Amino acid sequence: MTAMEAARKALQDVFGYDQFRPGQEDVIAAILSGRDVMAVMPTGAGKSLCYQIPGLVLPGVTLVVSPLISLMRDQVTALLQNGVRAAYLNSSLTARQFSLALQNARQGVYRIVYVAPERLMTDAFLSFARGAQIAQVVVDEAHCVSQWGQDFRPGYLQIAPFLAALPARPRVSAFTATATDAVRQDIKRLLNLRQPFEITTGFDRPNLYFEVRHPRDRDAELLRFLSEHQGQSGIVYCGTRKGVEEVARMLRQNGVDAVGYHAGMPDEERRRAQEDFVADISPVIVATNAFGMGIDKSNVSFVAHYNMPKDLESYYQEAGRAGRDGEDAVCCLLYQPADVRLNTFLIEHAQDESEMDEQTRQVVADRARERLKQMTFYATGHGCLRARILSYFGEKPESPHCNNCSGCLAGASERDVTVQAGQIVAAVIAMQGRYGKALTAKVLVGARDERIRARGLDKLSAFGCLHAEGEDNVRRMIDELIADDVLMVTEGEYPLLRAGARAAETLRGDEPIHMTLPAPGSAQEARTRRSASVDRALLSRLTAVRRRIAEEQHVPPFVIFTNATLRDMADKRPRTRAAMLRVAGVGERKLERYGETFLREIEAYVND
Ligand code: ADP
Ligand code: ZN
Repeated sequence: MTAMEAARKALQDVFGYDQFRPGQEDVIAAILSGRDVMAVMPTGAGKSLCYQIPGLVLPGVTLVVSPLISLMRDQVTALLQNGVRAAYLNSSLTARQFSLALQNARQGVYRIVYVAPERLMTDAFLSFARGAQIAQVVVDEAHCVSQWGQDFRPGYLQIAPFLAALPARPRVSAFTATATDAVRQDIKRLLNLRQPFEITTGFDRPNLYFEVRHPRDRDAELLRFLSEHQGQSGIVYCGTRKGVEEVARMLRQNGVDAVGYHAGMPDEERRRAQEDFVADISPVIVATNAFGMGIDKSNVSFVAHYNMPKDLESYYQEAGRAGRDGEDAVCCLLYQPADVRLNTFLIEHAQDESEMDEQTRQVVADRARERLKQMTFYATGHGCLRARILSYFGEKPESPHCNNCSGCLAGASERDVTVQAGQIVAAVIAMQGRYGKALTAKVLVGARDERIRARGLDKLSAFGCLHAEGEDNVRRMIDELIADDVLMVTEGEYPLLRAGARAAETLRGDEPIHMTLPAPGSAQEARTRRSASVDRALLSRLTAVRRRIAEEQHVPPFVIFTNATLRDMADKRPRTRAAMLRVAGVGERKLERYGETFLREIEAYVND
């Protein structure tokens, strides 16, 4: 078996994935061939696998330099879940734990060892490294080496001397999500990379829906946004600490289970807020930009910005924390003109504290103002938001309209929906006025839903007749038909949809009906259709099983299985171990550990 075949096998057997994501295969091939690597890949692209898989294939130990304790801990937890022997060495360990881990490492117990940069040049670590067979050295978050970036970490400057102190220089790979040219040059120079294989994968995150809202009342708008995302987990970013506290309080007063997070909070409280969020105990975290880097939570379904950040770099980095599991997610920016004033003030103010000479200060401030201008342009301009982001990062968008952002969907057009309206009325009559709006829309798009099946609604001729429109559009149409007295809803706790005064004429199609709607089959509609086709009842049972296991093991739920994996499982409904292995994200080790439990749950569900 060639090394690359072994890599593919590890992808399937250990991590449970069928295919490499863009860039992964090239990076892995380069590392396996012995080359240095410099990889710029956006958050969520799947950088970890790029070095973890070579770490499993190559003889010797893989050292990963990483800046954050939480990041290392989550990575190691996730690796152990997949049956990969791994450990971390950082200041969270006692001296005893540290020397024990090092002793294990010396005996070759681990395939992958995460280490804080400050540890590299210590005597204990150096003597271990000099005697060990090192497969590769990986520098994660490599931009921390550059003083150009906001995350400069002096410890990273010890990486080059460390490499020089080894008897043989191992291959070195550097990974970052920060792409500016100055930073990239710094990384290559300061880490002393030798003719590295360089790759920059696309910055587009097709699964993110971008949205800008211009509310008069931010609180009310945020509450509305959150009610659209009930039951999901997400981050609300605020511009200031005070904002964090006020918004968190406001949300709690309105019945939203939210925790606050900012650097001014006591450590203990802050740690708990973060842990509760990662463990899915608190679904919503309200935070300053201090929150996020190194938070390895893949199932963030939305990121809302209560304030506009100072530039698109910050915005995209923060917004990009949504949907890392590849699931559809929403990034919503609430904009008010006051944001521009606050940021302008901060730019001027930041200058007072620096020790730069007058000329440098001017240049830096000018650049900051220009970036703020671009950010404001994003928040207030027309057209495709994704296209704007991508061109800002120097990438050419595939098409001027992504159809998956509020800029594109604002371009919805007026259409003749006479036929569709008739079909909706027919469905309401066939359902005998016994169901609400939501279920009616689901029947019309042909959603796979337990309630629909149980009540035999999938036998109606209306079932799935508006499949091509998508659920969102159908709901919009129903709302308009209610407003036009074609349909009506009953009073009471469970409002039911009934035929209205003008139902008969609509059924006959006497008068043409026009509505302003996004095109059917646009990306957002595809998204709605996709989520509508998941069996929610089964998914929520699988989610409950995952939560129980996570609590028992004191690990975050997503290291057991990601949302994407549970969704695929609900979709495929495996009944055998072999079928379970075909679910994306189920490798051999996880099959062994959790396969039975989840198979039993599916079995029980199907027989219920
Ligand atoms: P990054 O470090 O680039 O932000 P991660 O390495 O944390 O991203 O990966 C993000 C998510 O994508 C993780 O849940 C990971 O398991 C998943 N993932 C990585 N590679 C693949 C793949 N080839 N197929 C499916 N999922 C993948
Ligand atoms: Zn768009």
